[in-house]
Amino acid sequence: MPKQNQGYLVLDHSYSPGLPDAQARRAGVDAGEGFFEADTFTCGHCSAVVVKHPLRVRERETCWKCDRWLCDLCATVRKLHEPGVCRNMDALVDRLQSLDPSDTVNAARLLADHQHFMTLRGTYG
Ligand SMILES: [Zn+2]
Ligand SMILES: [Zn+2]
Repeated sequence: MPKQNQGYLVLDHSYSPGLPDAQARRAGVDAGEGFFEADTFTCGHCSAVVVKHPLRVRERETCWKCDRWLCDLCATVRKLHEPGVCRNMDALVDRLQSLDPSDTVNAARLLADHQHFMTLRGTYG
């Protein structure tokens, strides 16, 4: 079982009309009205918080390098564009923090590389 930043989402519309269904689906949840609860996890590569759909049967991808679960978009980028590449967000922050503050060239390079990844990721979502 991968290490995770796990969480829990509760939407309780017991005392309100709730959300229109289309708006709830755009937010990644199934229930705009009533009560909805689900586990969540934070993607190891983009830090998106993912609501784990209670009815999902499809396997979730993990990164064997950083031992984190990945959101579907990051898993797709890794599969189609960057096989075996780990884009762990914590590692990126560590690398940035380890740079000499005057080393703007390498900081810009790391951030541009991350931006490239996020742009690729954005083409699937
Ligand atoms: Zn992700
Ligand atoms: Zn990784």
